[in-house]
Amino acid sequence: MTQQTLVLIKPDGLKKSLTGNILTRLSETKLDIVAAKIIKVSRELAERHYILLKDKPFFNELLKYLMGEYHKKKVMALVYWGEDAINRVRAICGSTNPEEADPVSIRGAYGRITTKGIYENAMHASTNEQEAEREIKLWFNPDEIIAELYPTKTVKEQVERRVWA
Ligand code: UDP
Ligand code: MG
Repeated sequence: MTQQTLVLIKPDGLKKSLTGNILTRLSETKLDIVAAKIIKVSRELAERHYILLKDKPFFNELLKYLMGEYHKKKVMALVYWGEDAINRVRAICGSTNPEEADPVSIRGAYGRITTKGIYENAMHASTNEQEAEREIKLWFNPDEIIAELYPTKTVKEQVERRVWA
């Protein structure tokens, strides 16, 4: 089944200069990258991304982690597309807890548990098709993705936007 999945290289991954390593590992999947960008994550985006965890005791620390308060204020977001994309990316990504993750997985190799108890696990990968759709639509506009993944519509709006001077 052809699928799409959201990958985030989290602020610890960027701070530790792991972008190249992580993308090289993910290229083993032979999946296509159909979108990519670097983002400064707002609290609102972090909250919406991790909305399912809002009742967890570590939620606020998790938001700070994703916003880059402990590393660099940036995240790299990508969409991978192809056969069985969700499970193939999750397999290389590894389990949530970096101490339990396969040592040769990305999280097993590069993750750590902080003294505050947060799993700094270098990357995010969507867990199922429903989450992938919600997350991809949250992080990307249709025009930032070079594949037609979900239905779109055209709206006419008059908004001010910044252009090159
Ligand atoms: N997390 C954590 N402690 C936990 C569970 C999760 O710090 O006990 C963090 C970790 O960074 C994880 C993120 O919250 O990647 C999202 O948790 P989820 O259960 O969705 O795991 P994932 O889908 O990322 O494997
Ligand atoms: Mg998850």
